[in-house]
Amino acid sequence: MFDKILIANRGEIALRVIRACREMGIKSVAVHSTADSDAMHVRMADEAICIGPASGTESYLNIASIIAACEVTGAQAIHPGYGFLSENAKFVQIVEDHDLTFIGPTADHIRIMGDKITAKETISALGVPCVPGSAGGVPSLAEAKRIGAEIGYPVIIKATAGGGGKGMKVAQTAADMESAFQTARAEGKSNFGNDEVYIEKYLTTPRHIEIQVFGDGKGNAVHLGERDCSLQRRHQKVFEEAPGPTITAEERAKIGKICADAVANINYIGAGTIEFLYENGEFYFIEMNTRLQVEHPVTESIFGVDLVREQIRVAEGLPMSFTQDDLEINGHSIEVRINAERLPNFAPCPGMITHFHAPGGLGVRMDSALYDGYSIPPYYDSLIGKLIVHGRDRQEALSRLNRALGELIVDGIDTTIPLFSQLLQEDDIHSGNYNIHWLEKWLEATYGA
Ligand code: ADP
Repeated sequence: MFDKILIANRGEIALRVIRACREMGIKSVAVHSTADSDAMHVRMADEAICIGPASGTESYLNIASIIAACEVTGAQAIHPGYGFLSENAKFVQIVEDHDLTFIGPTADHIRIMGDKITAKETISALGVPCVPGSAGGVPSLAEAKRIGAEIGYPVIIKATAGGGGKGMKVAQTAADMESAFQTARAEGKSNFGNDEVYIEKYLTTPRHIEIQVFGDGKGNAVHLGERDCSLQRRHQKVFEEAPGPTITAEERAKIGKICADAVANINYIGAGTIEFLYENGEFYFIEMNTRLQVEHPVTESIFGVDLVREQIRVAEGLPMSFTQDDLEINGHSIEVRINAERLPNFAPCPGMITHFHAPGGLGVRMDSALYDGYSIPPYYDSLIGKLIVHGRDRQEALSRLNRALGELIVDGIDTTIPLFSQLLQEDDIHSGNYNIHWLEKWLEATYGA
């Protein structure tokens, strides 16, 4: 059993992991950059240690400093949160070489799923349906054009190493292929050091549906239903919910079992998310994330489970605390991402929080690391909080979200809070009638942005 866990992250997710540790009676160690000395995760953890200067590369991504921090504090395991080193196979290898435990999947699974071409090959061989497209990498423009003609336009060219919406370009027609192909390659090269790309049929009106899976590393796995994350801006999620408003119990059971069986088959350990596009009743795999997702609380809300606690349990070699039969959906949950960004262009807006008030009451969860007088540093992601609501059904969850947004006060900087209050006035949001392009179109119509 672990008695001390180091959290290689910051912000709300570091607090989220500290909370699970505390409930389990495990001591927590926060690491921080010089810019984060006053951050809430530093105050909340049992111990804190500075691991470098402000820049993420020199602190939260500094593997040597993080390993040294474990040695100095006697932490036996590392929880990576999301982002930073959470999907870095090399880091996992180094953690294991130092006889520490990485709370997450193996280096091999991270490597397989981190390369989208290999991930697609592996997942498809396990019986999971995929988007039609090239068989593997596409080495030349001539080959790209041949494939475009074969599968039919529009197509999307994706960097195999891509992530966070980078390294993806759509070619509407054959005439766009050259520039889309070259841009996707260049983005793959400059952002991820890998210019290999592949091609997929571009689905025009899909929803983004992802399945939460969880494995014990010993051949047992379950699914925890889906999340609908169709409301996106620049391929980035802003509003997530569970269950998906359009998914039936039969569809959930069927795709959920396919996903759980696939991860059981590879002895996957810990939390994972298999992402799909969903169009005309069909699921098409796009990628697998081998970590806890930002939007995991909506799943926790409807199943009443603590996913971080489960991650820690299986990392200790314990069984999961539930079986598939124990997992029953209760009600509906929605999360909105509160970013320090100025509308309408979503320009980052760091600065001093002069007043913060979190909403409360039945069915309201606010995950954030904000406090009065806190200065948001300009060096990191603009996500500063997540407001999660739970209701007996979708309608109640939406009303509760509206009520909670009205109580939430973040003064001193601009945030995305007004965006959600506005979205809640739209009929399409209430009827659940949207796909992955809806938000971009709405932003354009509303703000011309
Ligand atoms: P990333 O790793 O950058 O998040 P993903 O492969 O998960 O990239 O895709 C992110 C988003 O891009 C999806 O949620 C969807 O909005 C869009 N997308 C990806 N592949 C396709 C496709 N074949 N057709 C249409 N949209 C796509």
